[in-house]
Amino acid sequence: MQITKDKVVTFDYAVRREDGSTCESSDDQGPSVYLHGYGQLIPGLEAAMEGREAGDAFSVTVPPDQGYGMHDESLMLTVAVDDIEGAEQLEIGMEIRLSEVDEEDAYGGDEGEDVDWDDQIFQVVSIEDGQVTIDGNHPLAGDTLSIDVVVREIRDATADEVAHRHPHLDGECYHEEGVGDIEDDDWGDDGGDSWASGAINDFGDDD
Ligand SMILES: [Zn+2]
Repeated sequence: MQITKDKVVTFDYAVRREDGSTCESSDDQGPSVYLHGYGQLIPGLEAAMEGREAGDAFSVTVPPDQGYGMHDESLMLTVAVDDIEGAEQLEIGMEIRLSEVDEEDAYGGDEGEDVDWDDQIFQVVSIEDGQVTIDGNHPLAGDTLSIDVVVREIRDATADEVAHRHPHLDGECYHEEGVGDIEDDDWGDDGGDSWASGAINDFGDDD
């Protein structure tokens, strides 16, 4: 069986940056499972999956425009510590949503632009003088990635899976807001830990 639209695919992977450092692998996260043909993976990876068979092992180089895009300065925001809920717990590297911030007090590179920040995840990059700088870019934005893949399993999706546009594990629809790391939604919808669990998934806005 080959990987085509509406196949559920299980695969192992290792994602490396250009400098060779591994930023994520299934050794840590376990194999990834996705429904092929719906943009659940970053485009460069999903395209490379097409037509593969179980047991295939390959490497693909994914430039930013086929991966997580370029780093977008307008997603760097500075807000007053006091405007963030739970500010006393803020730490560098922590991921927060802007819904935890008073949006009127957040300003970015494009002031006046009407941006819907709901569910966007930001990473805290600095805390200084009562100001917090947060970055809504994916941590791998701007990186060219090398991804090693081993295809483990391919099966036909069920009608439910196609309707839901995600795989079900053991026949169960496990997906809930804030839990799934293999959703095809905007990555901001995936909950706070999605970066750690789904770096190779496409969290882009192509739904
Ligand atoms: Zn479902």
